Amino acid sequence: MTLRAKVWTAALEDLTRVGAHAVAAGLALASGGNLSVRRAGSPEFVVTGRGTFLDRLAPDSFALMNLDGETLDGVDPSSEWKLHQRTYLARPDITAIVHLHPQHVVLLDALGKRIRQLTLDHVAYVPVINRIPFYPNGSDELADAAADASIGCDCVVLGNHGCSTLSTSMDDAYRKAQNLESAAIATYRMLLLGDETTEFPRELRATAIHR
Ligand SMILES: [Zn+2]
Repeated sequence: MTLRAKVWTAALEDLTRVGAHAVAAGLALASGGNLSVRRAGSPEFVVTGRGTFLDRLAPDSFALMNLDGETLDGVDPSSEWKLHQRTYLARPDITAIVHLHPQHVVLLDALGKRIRQLTLDHVAYVPVINRIPFYPNGSDELADAAADASIGCDCVVLGNHGCSTLSTSMDDAYRKAQNLESAAIATYRMLLLGDETTEFPRELRATAIHR
């Protein structure tokens, strides 16, 4: 990357570390999924490049873009760059977006099964889960629907596709994706056991915070 993009070095290291972990954890396959960060209040963001494998990210794997959708530096952006751009426009309070393809999340959503929060961590990190139907990869429809669903919600399931989780740091956005898949796995196991209703007690949800 050029000098302009080198100011993002620490952020790129975060993206590279999270990308490698996400693939190792089975939350993305091959070139699926993409990640982005921006600085608070900045109209510029860095997103993983088109076709990049998240477990092979290097300093030249990224595109620097602005919120008008212009590529300012680096490589061609991910085909899902609009998902990141529109969500940043809808949520000026967040500075990191993790878009992955977790298998149990997508499976349960496709079956019409609500993902249930079972543990303290699920309730603390993904208290609200929104979903949108399938839209083509990279489309305005997908980006706009996901951005609308992210109003007041940091965790959006994209039907027959994956999920998008948001936060003020890459690590926390990734933690939300991890906990979403964990909740989906717990729900999947409960369904296998014939259980359709168990979840974290509603009356105790207010106490489910990490102090
Ligand atoms: Zn995707």
